[in-house]
Amino acid sequence: MIVDRLGRRFRNLRVSLTAACNYACTYCVPDGKRLLRAENELPATKLLKGVTMLQQAAGIDKVRITGGEPLVTPKFDEFLLGVMELPLSDVSLTTNGQLLPKKKDVIAESGLSRINVSLDTLNPLRFKQIARGGDLETVLSGIDSMLELGLKVKINMVPLRSQNLTEVPMMLDYCLDRGIELRFIELMRMGHLLHSNNFTSEFVSMELLLDTIGEHYEFARTDAPYDSTAVRFQIPDRGVFGIIANESEPFCRACTRLRLSSDGFLYGCLSSANKNYIGDLLDLPSHLVLPKLQGILVQALGDKKLAFQGEVTVMKLIGG
Ligand code: SAM
Repeated sequence: MIVDRLGRRFRNLRVSLTAACNYACTYCVPDGKRLLRAENELPATKLLKGVTMLQQAAGIDKVRITGGEPLVTPKFDEFLLGVMELPLSDVSLTTNGQLLPKKKDVIAESGLSRINVSLDTLNPLRFKQIARGGDLETVLSGIDSMLELGLKVKINMVPLRSQNLTEVPMMLDYCLDRGIELRFIELMRMGHLLHSNNFTSEFVSMELLLDTIGEHYEFARTDAPYDSTAVRFQIPDRGVFGIIANESEPFCRACTRLRLSSDGFLYGCLSSANKNYIGDLLDLPSHLVLPKLQGILVQALGDKKLAFQGEVTVMKLIGG
């Protein structure tokens, strides 16, 4: 097992199936252009081999499928069915939900038990303004279909001061009524936001968020597992919500995440541009892959920062 001086090791792997996305969210894509096709991406078989090798080399036991938008790529079905066959303790999926109605059957067949859907607003017009792709009704019917299948659903919302902060109570009601855990993701200084005034003007801190929620609900902070990214709160008799308080309460010192991008790079830290290409390694027989991979993992673990400093790399390229 590779462990650093803070006791951090890699346990959670995020696999970005593609950098392509059917949205162009304002905080992720500055020019508003959707990336419909991405180049030089690894096929599902290679990404699956990557997962297996990283399981053996780093002790990965949790995998999150992400992107870009993982449901837009034809390799989604093969990857999902394949990864569900591996001896992992947890597999989850992060999606914008636009294609969930179409992917319902393969998700049911795979046995996936939980899913995170990113949704920043319940207002159709504002949805178009923020996501700049897709439509709200389809996402909501996709969420319903996942609940019907019995999946545990979480919704990820990025609160933005001028765009959806007033919707926080409504989003919370929507989720609490359906047994969904709402997770607020503090805006992160990624991509174009790293050096932009928009970050400062749109950022909503955990303090402001809790003040806003406190006007409508009573809540108490609950314990969260060691390497959980979210700070969680219980609303008595209603349910739970969480905040991924990257800026207000950074969790870097307990981070166990490793990222594999769709074009074959390993990233040890969201706040570092350092990356290592493993696409060619994955063509070798497994016994030759392992020692090389271990050397790369030592470097990747060394890239982990003590606090999030922002990064010019865009989330959709390395899997949010
Ligand atoms: N397309 C999928 C989705 O929408 O869930 C997966 C990829 S997306 C990059 C993953 C998550 O990252 C989404 O919830 C999105 O809102 C979030 N995200 C992207 N850029 C962000 C930023 N600068 N700050 C905070 N969250 C961000």
